[in-house]
Amino acid sequence: QRAKSAKKSFEIYNPVFDENTLERLFLTNSLKQAIEEDQLTLHYQPKLCLATMTVSHAEALVRWQHPEKGLIPPDEFVSIAEKTGQMAALTRWVTKAAFDQYLTWQQQGIVINIAINISAENILDESYPDFVINLKKQYQLDDNAITLEVTEDAVVDDPKQATKMLSYLRDNGFKLSVDDYGTGYSSLAQLKQLPVQELKIDRSFVQQLENDENDKIIVKSTIELAHNMSLSVVAEGIEDEYTLNWLKEHNCQLAQGYFISRPLPSAQFTQWLETTHYQVKRVNYNK
Ligand code: C2E
Ligand code: MG
Ligand code: MG
Ligand code: MG
Repeated sequence: QRAKSAKKSFEIYNPVFDENTLERLFLTNSLKQAIEEDQLTLHYQPKLCLATMTVSHAEALVRWQHPEKGLIPPDEFVSIAEKTGQMAALTRWVTKAAFDQYLTWQQQGIVINIAINISAENILDESYPDFVINLKKQYQLDDNAITLEVTEDAVVDDPKQATKMLSYLRDNGFKLSVDDYGTGYSSLAQLKQLPVQELKIDRSFVQQLENDENDKIIVKSTIELAHNMSLSVVAEGIEDEYTLNWLKEHNCQLAQGYFISRPLPSAQFTQWLETTHYQVKRVNYNK
């Protein structure tokens, strides 16, 4: 069906990298060099507003286009960047590239918000919040144009500092989302304290939802929990129409997954926006 026919060549890469090999490679061909030589690239995956079936956000997902190794997925180098002290540089590159893309779409009259993934380290690093806040001013982006997706580990590592930094970002017009919700170890007491606006339910609870009653119970109660705490909810990992409809019926606000679209390089994403049967918001500047 759709999910299967959407399997294009973009996701093809040589699988199975021995972490040590990759670590050596990463250190030799340092991130700085990878950035200078334009070896990092962002793919974009839509988030759909279920009430209106409108494409409301695009999540930026980094890949390393290695000259010999091909397209390396983030799971194989983000943790190495973390271990080798290169996360600050990586996230700054991703942020800048995503902001540039926001402006490009804006100039084309496409109204879409962008979500950026940031790691625990960035939140606990004093300088990233000022970097992203200054960039937002420089680019004159509206409040809530950018969502920052943060995983729970940032909160668990240092709840006080994380809360402080997240409040600072929120007060400067960023929308904050807890990514992979349900897989981390934050307590409800911690969640209650967090100045976030959105929970993103981990795909492990969503992918098999049709045939798993426990997943249905978990997702349903997470949606209710979020709404009771005045948070919006995103479900990731929607791979079939049944799940999309089920989530819509259960008042989940946003949906993301291969059934809607796989992550695509920016040019293909723009093309997808032209052809999709979902709604796309546009502004016509020529009127
Ligand atoms: P994430 O932020 O939770 O992103 C969702 C991941 O799930 C993406 O994998 C996406 O391709 C995949 N996915 C989306 N829909 C489906 C689906 O329907 N089925 C299945 N099986 N998978 C789906 P990807 O792009 O490989 O990224 C993996 C993780 O790497 C991300 O998880 C995020 O934690 C991290 N990551 C990606 N880009 C960045 C970045 O720029 N900075 C940081 N710090 N982390 C990043
Ligand atoms: Mg994410
Ligand atoms: Mg996630
Ligand atoms: Mg994830």
